Order: sequence, then structure tokens, then C-alpha cells
Amino acid sequence: MKKVSLCLLFLGAMYSVNAQKINLGKAADVVSKGAKVFTFSNADAVKLSKESVDYMDKNNPVAGPKDPYTVRLNRLFGKHKTQDGLTLNYKVYKVKDINAFACADGSVRVFSSLMDIMTDDELLAVIGHEIGHVKNEDTKDAIKSAYLKAAALDAASSASSTVATLNESQVGKMANAFLDASHSKKQESQADMYSYDFMKANKYNVVGAYTAFKKLALLSEGGTAQSGFQKMFNSHPDSNKRAEAVKKRAEKDGLWKDPGTVTLPTTKLTK
Ligand SMILES: [Zn+2]
Repeated sequence: MKKVSLCLLFLGAMYSVNAQKINLGKAADVVSKGAKVFTFSNADAVKLSKESVDYMDKNNPVAGPKDPYTVRLNRLFGKHKTQDGLTLNYKVYKVKDINAFACADGSVRVFSSLMDIMTDDELLAVIGHEIGHVKNEDTKDAIKSAYLKAAALDAASSASSTVATLNESQVGKMANAFLDASHSKKQESQADMYSYDFMKANKYNVVGAYTAFKKLALLSEGGTAQSGFQKMFNSHPDSNKRAEAVKKRAEKDGLWKDPGTVTLPTTKLTK
């Protein structure tokens, strides 16, 4: 299966032995309604993102409404569904990849294996980061290029201003290409800044953002090379540097509390 590499996290598989990998294999019953390529608007990005997310939701084990993962995410994310003028929705995928992603339509998906290793404060930092990507419209370019790939078009050579409806397998391709895209380091840093501000404004413990990155650094240090990891590593800012950036801001704001040595939990966290 394709690895999910969009956004801040990378892959690991050490915690949820029974969970599935994220599945992007089969085409779903989704057909794109098409969108204009050359005037690729936010509305187009939203529409295509929604199709991709619907596809992924159908092809992955989504935690049900009473699932403890959902209950926990409701507790953390529920009050931020209309954050910063955005309309957001969220779900948990019960998969063993350690990751999370956001789409232009306001969909945020958090993976259960990430929740297993993150405290509530750390998850809030991740949520804030993902909201930052939505707010900053970082996913627009990603979905556009994914769409062009799926439709086997390229912006330079296509003469048509309106793209044909995508068939089912093309929607699958689009979802794959979208998840294979990665944000620039600048976009990641800006989402980190957004996350910090989000934590601070909501009076959450900003040190959670620091320890979240420290955990990612630990995973990357101890990670046996998974395919795709190197690519992720190259395209993402160094986790330790991101942690240090949080620490600097927290110290400046008088919000820094030394968390001590950060370690990876040996049992699944639930709060
Ligand atoms: Zn990110």
C-alpha cells in the first residue's frame, strides 16, 4: 500500500500490531464532477479534496462514533470545529501508520497509531498544525497537481479549460497522488507557528508541541528504514529543530516548563 506522507509526520509501525496499513488500493464509488484547471479556484480545491477524502474514508477503517479513539478526538477537537472561520471535520483512521493529514475542504484525519503515542497536549499541537495547513491553503497546490496527474493532463500542454469527469480509478489515483505530495519546509514552519498560536490562544500547554516533535525525532532516530521514510525526511524540517523553535517561543512568552527527557511511551496513551 502507498504510504501517507502528507504533512508533518512520518511513518512508523511499532505500536498497533493488529491495525491495518492505510489503504488506498481500490477505486471507490466516487466520480469527480470535474473542475476547471486553469482557473483552479479554492472551490475547485475544496471539491476535489472532498472527493479524495470520501475515497479514503471508504477505503480505510474509520473509528465509529463510540470508539474510544473517536470519543477522545471529540473531546480534543470537538470545540474547534469552526476554528478561525473554517468549517472543519475530523475522523480517526485505525491504521498503524503514525500520521495525520488535512485537506482543503477542512477534513482532518488523525491516525490511531499517532494517538497511541501522543498525549492530549501533543495531539492538540498536531490538530493546530493541521488546522494551520487548511487555513493557509497549503493543500490547494497539492490537490491541483494530484488532479492533473490523475486526469493525465498537464497544465502546460492541455488546451481545454474544463476537465472531464474523473472515473473511479482516476479518483483513486488522485487520492494517492495527493497523499504522496508534501508541503514545503516553509509551509510546515508556518503551520508550526499557527499551531503554537492556536495552543497559546486556547491556553493549552504549548510545551506539548515541543514534546510532540521530540517524539517524532525519537521515532526517526530509532526507525528502521521504512520505504518512503528517506523521502519524508528530506522534505520535512528536522523534528529536533522544530522542537527547539517551539521552546524558543515558549521561553520568550514565559510559557516554558521543562518537560524533562522525552521518551516514547511503552503503553498506548488515552489522554
Ligand atoms: Zn504539516
